[in-house]
Amino acid sequence: MKRKQFVIFGLGRFGVSVATTLSEAGYEVMVVDPSEEKIQEISSLVTHAVQADATDMDTLCALGIRNFDVAIVAIGKDMQASIMITLLLKEIGIPYVVAKASTEIHQRVLEKLGADRIILPEYEMGRRIATNLISGNIIDY
Ligand code: ATP
Repeated sequence: MKRKQFVIFGLGRFGVSVATTLSEAGYEVMVVDPSEEKIQEISSLVTHAVQADATDMDTLCALGIRNFDVAIVAIGKDMQASIMITLLLKEIGIPYVVAKASTEIHQRVLEKLGADRIILPEYEMGRRIATNLISGNIIDY
């Protein structure tokens, strides 16, 4: 069976962590970011590293994005870029689009655009840590 192919937009801490973890697990990973420095830093760790602004349909088509199974939009601060890329990916027909949200309103917009999974990293990590702290696995303070 063909292994899933992943494309990640945005090389902040979240994007780099997702990209390198998938790559270490043996998956084909493409990363896209306008920063030349970030692309150079990660180029030896992933299958393809492309310096580009992904908010443009022609660029996405030229990169062959329609062949990927999963796309991860890992852009938090630049909400406009995050929203535009998510919209284009859904229009292209990527089967599973994961998008990182930075605020609740950002989350709601991504939902309306049809993102398949939306991540609020700080919120999710906070819940996980709290759950872990009250689970039976740790010493009761
Ligand atoms: P972190 O994951 O570190 O919390 P963040 O959510 O604050 O990061 P940003 O700093 O907004 O994320 O952006 C992450 C990356 O997204 C940056 O490396 C930036 O260059 C990249 N980025 C911004 N606009 C685009 C775009 N149009 N296409 C692709 N990547 C982009």
